[in-house]
Amino acid sequence: MKNDYLIPFYSKYDLTFNYGQGSWLYDDNGNAYLDFISGIAVNALGHCHPSLVETIQKQSNTLMNISNYFWNDTVLNLAKRLCELTDLSKVFFCNSGTEANEAIIKIARKYGSNISPNKKKIIYMKNSFHGRTLGSLSITGQEKYQKKFRPLLEDVQEAIFNDLKSVEALMDDSVSAVILEPIQGECGVISATKEFITGIRKLCDHYNALLILDEVQSGMGRSGHLFAYQYFNVKPDLISIAKGLGGGFPIGAVVASDKAANCIEPGDHGSTFGGNPLACACGLTILEELIDNHILAQVNKKSNQLVAKLKELQESYPLIQEVRGKGLLLGVHMKHSSKEIIKKCMEQKLLLAGSSNETIRILPPLTVSEEEINLAMNRFETVLKQFK
Ligand SMILES: *Cc1c(COP(=O)(O)O)cnc(C)c1O
Repeated sequence: MKNDYLIPFYSKYDLTFNYGQGSWLYDDNGNAYLDFISGIAVNALGHCHPSLVETIQKQSNTLMNISNYFWNDTVLNLAKRLCELTDLSKVFFCNSGTEANEAIIKIARKYGSNISPNKKKIIYMKNSFHGRTLGSLSITGQEKYQKKFRPLLEDVQEAIFNDLKSVEALMDDSVSAVILEPIQGECGVISATKEFITGIRKLCDHYNALLILDEVQSGMGRSGHLFAYQYFNVKPDLISIAKGLGGGFPIGAVVASDKAANCIEPGDHGSTFGGNPLACACGLTILEELIDNHILAQVNKKSNQLVAKLKELQESYPLIQEVRGKGLLLGVHMKHSSKEIIKKCMEQKLLLAGSSNETIRILPPLTVSEEEINLAMNRFETVLKQFK
C-alpha cells in the first residue's frame, strides 16, 4: 500500500511516524525514537514545540495568505529582524532552500548583466549542495545528481572547496558571483577555512562579483552562531536560508546587501506562497526562541558535550576516523559504510542521517537536553560494539 501512491523519488526506511514530541518520534507500535535528524536540520525546536504550535494556531486564526500585492506587518517584522541579525539590507521570501538559491541565481545574473552583457558566470564548489531544481542543480557540484538531467544552466564553473587557488584561476570580469556553503553538509560535513572564505571575499571585491553564502543547512543557529559565516568575520552579499527558519513550517529566504538588491525591479522574480503571514509568523517565533529565549546560546555547550563524548568513543573504537562540523551540525567520519551503521542505530531507536558514504550526520533539535545527548551516545556505542 505504502508504495502505491507516491512517485518513488525517495528510498525510505520501513518506519512510519504519526506523532512526535520534542526530540522524540513515536512509531505505529508506540516505540520511542530519539530523533537526531530533525527533519534534516529543520525542526530546530524539536517536534510540536508549544510556542510554534501556539503561533500557528493564532496566526491561522488571523491571516494565512494574502498574495504579494499587499503589505503585512508579520512579513515586514520578519524581514526587519533578519536584516538586523545579519547586518544586511533586504529580504525576499520563498518556500524552500532551492527556491532561495533560484532567486539568488537570478539576482546574480541581473547584477552582472547590469554591468556588462558578458558578466554572467557563477562559480560554485565541488561537492556542494544547493538544491534539486534545475538552476540550483546546475551549481551543485555532484555528478550523481546532475548526470541524468543535462543540459543544465550555462556559464557556471566548478572550483575546489577550500582551495583558494582553484577559485582564483577562474576569476575574471565575467564572474557575477561565487557561491559556497560555510559548512558543506551533504558531502561529509566539511567546514570552510577562514582563509578560503576571506580570500574569496577579496577576489569578489576585486572583480566586482557577489559573494553568496548558502546557509540553508548551517544557518538558523545550527552551527552555534545564528549563521555559520559569523565564525569567519566576513560579510556576504547574499545569503540563502530555509530549513530551520520555520522550525518545520516551509519557508525560505534570501537576505541581500543593498549592492545586490538594488539591481532588482518589480517583475524580475516572484513566488505565490512566498512570504505568506503564516510562514513568517513561524520564522519570527523561531528567532524569538533562539535569541530572546536563549536556545542559541546553549548550542555550543550541547555541541561540546556531544563532541567530547564522540572523541572519547573514538579512543575506544578506531572505527571512528574523525569528528567534524560545528555546533549541532556534526559529522562522524567512519572507516565503514555510514548506511549500515545508520541502520543499526535505527534498531537501537536512534535516528541519524547520512552525509557521505562514510560520514554520519548528527542533527539533533537545538532544544536537545543533556540527558538525551547521553542517551543517544549510549545507543551509538551499543552499535559501535557490534562492529568491533
Ligand atoms: C537542503 C539544502 C538545500 C535545499 O533546500 P530544499 O528546501 O530541500 O530545497 C540547499 N542548500 C543546502 C546547503 C541544503 O542543505
